[in-house]
Amino acid sequence: MIYHSTRNKSLSVSSAEAIAQGISADGGLFVPASIPELSAADFEALKGLSYAERAARLFGLYLTDFTDEELRECTHNAYETGSFETPNVQEIATLADGSMLLELWHGPTCAFKDMALQILPHFLTRSIRKTGIDREVVILTATSGDTGKAALAGFQDVPGTKIMVFYPEDGVSSMQKRQMQTQEGENVRVCAVKGNFDDCQNGVKAIFTDPATQKVLAENGMQFSSANSINWGRLVPQIVYYVSAYVTMLEKGILKDGQGFALTVPTGNFGNILAAWYAKQMGVPIRHLVCASNINKVLTDFIDTGIYDRNREFHATVSPSMDILISSNLERLLYHMTGEDDAQIREWFGALKSDGRYQIPEELKNRIQAEFSGSFWDDAATKDMIGKVFAENGYLSDTHTAVGICAARDYTAHASEKYPMLIASTANPYKFGKAVLEAIGGDTDADEYAILDRLQEKSGMKIPAALAELKTKTVRFRDVVSGDEMPAYVKEKLGIQ
Ligand SMILES: *Cc1c(COP(=O)(O)O)cnc(C)c1O
Repeated sequence: MIYHSTRNKSLSVSSAEAIAQGISADGGLFVPASIPELSAADFEALKGLSYAERAARLFGLYLTDFTDEELRECTHNAYETGSFETPNVQEIATLADGSMLLELWHGPTCAFKDMALQILPHFLTRSIRKTGIDREVVILTATSGDTGKAALAGFQDVPGTKIMVFYPEDGVSSMQKRQMQTQEGENVRVCAVKGNFDDCQNGVKAIFTDPATQKVLAENGMQFSSANSINWGRLVPQIVYYVSAYVTMLEKGILKDGQGFALTVPTGNFGNILAAWYAKQMGVPIRHLVCASNINKVLTDFIDTGIYDRNREFHATVSPSMDILISSNLERLLYHMTGEDDAQIREWFGALKSDGRYQIPEELKNRIQAEFSGSFWDDAATKDMIGKVFAENGYLSDTHTAVGICAARDYTAHASEKYPMLIASTANPYKFGKAVLEAIGGDTDADEYAILDRLQEKSGMKIPAALAELKTKTVRFRDVVSGDEMPAYVKEKLGIQ
């Protein structure tokens, strides 16, 4: 499989190069030249396999310069060495209204990002070797909370790598902050940024694409890569879990062969929902995709109007991992849906950079609406839904997932054709314990650990060990910088000038 840049179709790289580089030098994202298709027999053959075995087979379709043995090694290391708390890796829960939650948060940091970030370091270190570059990889990551911790956990003490994570100082939950500040490992560093997620992401992108910095880095035997969902190595493991979820629904008799379903994804950077779209192109019978947003509803507006406009107020919400105004992965969708029109992508994303805005033609908007719809929900609606789902089912959902449940119920209520509904459940509710406890009527006037205890008492759901143990861990990282100071900070900490 060959990969092109969304901003330069004539650029062709291997999967190892795409993963090693993270983002194309022209600012574009790497996309596969074609999307493999699965037949009914292919789905059948995935039945009865473990998650790691399914994943290895599916990776083989996209990462064609890896051997089967290498892929099996990677999936074994990521999914079969005890870092996920359930042997199935992902689980499906069913609510009283028949909708299903695809629980993607049984990994070590309690968010869906573990599904990809537990395997990315294995892909990346092998990719670097394959491309014949003998350099240390420096992972620079901007995070709205969950990516950072998941990337730190994935890369901790991986030989040949260093990782630096930037998060918005006041833009993450206290549990998320604690998880990052206490991260162990010799090769890790964490720093807060005075600003929001987009400031962090812009800072990282600017450092990344600065030729002078790249040159100094190369002279010092280092090279940047990305653990954000702009890296193809992040996206492809996410495609896997949608394919695998479909196979599991077939195995369990929830769906009959070929029966369609609708899928709702709580969305920020458009990575998770884009992975679902790829799964759909591969043959998973997803009849409709619901893009759920909080009040940072740039995607809802885009789907409704065809205008992407980031010039708006940024809101901090109880679903901070979706507090994003620049959804990077939309670029990949538009590239595919315009028939790979790289010139058009350059124009739109140039306009996004210079004016914060672009508009797609009516005809394309209509085609997007045929596959996607979007809706947005504020914090009050989110908390209401957590309370309602708990009252109806005794089931605790996190804030992001609750935004998804709001959107899913709204879609199903209004849809002319009803499909079984699967909702991506993206975080363990304990990760956003304060908002969740408040939503189910608990007293939140306490520190984050007392909140965990109260939530456990009230819900009967067990506190995940990974969060309980934070209490006894030392805070290692307290640095705070402004967005402008990020380049100097990175160079200083890498010991280069
Ligand atoms: C990252 C994240 C999201 C948003 O996912 P995208 O791939 O950025 O759209 C939603 N929920 C949680 C809990 C997350 O960590």
